[in-house]
Amino acid sequence: MRCLWCNSSFSSQHATRMMSHVLKWPKGGLGACTGIIPKERYEWYKEFHDKKMKIRGRGMRDGRVDDCSDQFT
Ligand SMILES: [Zn+2]
Repeated sequence: MRCLWCNSSFSSQHATRMMSHVLKWPKGGLGACTGIIPKERYEWYKEFHDKKMKIRGRGMRDGRVDDCSDQFT
């Protein structure tokens, strides 16, 4: 999986970690993205992440994130 914004490639296929990366949260395990992400895009990632957290909070299975993996490659 390669980051669109900083061109780093990761061996991890975890979209959740990738999400932390593009949201520039180093605690995700991939470090913070050094690329310049347009605000709208950043908001999109953030919204997606929030939604995903809510889904997880309801105890549903973690799998929907694959729907957006095209956004990262
Ligand atoms: Zn990046």
